[in-house]
Amino acid sequence: MTQNCTPFVFPLGPFQVNSVEYDKVSDYIESGAIDVVPGKAKFSRYIPQRDTFITRNSNPPLDESVRSSLVHECTHAISDINKYDVTRLTDEAAAYIAQLTYALLLRPSLPEPPIGLPVDNMMRQSMHLVNKYELGSPAGYGAMIDQRDIADLARAVYAIPDYHNIDPDAKLAANGVALSDEQLEEFYRRQMQRLINQDTSGTDASLKAQYASYEDYVTSDNELLTLFDSYRAKEDRAAEVVARLSDDR
Ligand SMILES: [Zn+2]
Repeated sequence: MTQNCTPFVFPLGPFQVNSVEYDKVSDYIESGAIDVVPGKAKFSRYIPQRDTFITRNSNPPLDESVRSSLVHECTHAISDINKYDVTRLTDEAAAYIAQLTYALLLRPSLPEPPIGLPVDNMMRQSMHLVNKYELGSPAGYGAMIDQRDIADLARAVYAIPDYHNIDPDAKLAANGVALSDEQLEEFYRRQMQRLINQDTSGTDASLKAQYASYEDYVTSDNELLTLFDSYRAKEDRAAEVVARLSDDR
């Protein structure tokens, strides 16, 4: 049951965007295989060739847009780790769908930006897909997103000046994330711990147990700490929904 409670489960073409994959990204970061460096720019970035996150220049407390943009970057990391064979624009489309799914989970009343600017149009289109496929709600678990919807969104991303230098046919440089022996050991230790926590599943309390494993994280990065905190909050909400559903039965 625990597996089904995660708000992030949607295969998008080759993408498997779900909490297991986001957990993996966390473990790659915590093992040191993916680097997190503070940035000065307005935007955060993930550079697949260097397995590096560059965080956006911001101070805690972090607003929803900062937190959901971290989910965006983590989605790029998922592509890199799994060496997805996709175009850069498709990868951006996947990252924006994940970002908006998360933004709407944090704030269901998030208003749609007005039609006009290419970036706003793309955000609107992403929000429409989140609603169409009911992503982030139990009804949307395992939703299959139509390739045409992804292609349309990729075109909307391309229309944004910041993305206009991307060759529409260019493939993502997803070359995987290499781990040293030491990092590999740490990575597996963390993955193993997750399995052990999952084994105790079967009750709503297990959700808490699973996410209590986040307490073990040691990171000095405030943005990531906040991200993990928000995952916990999100799971609490998911647990609530599940509890309500089983009460209704
Ligand atoms: Zn991106």
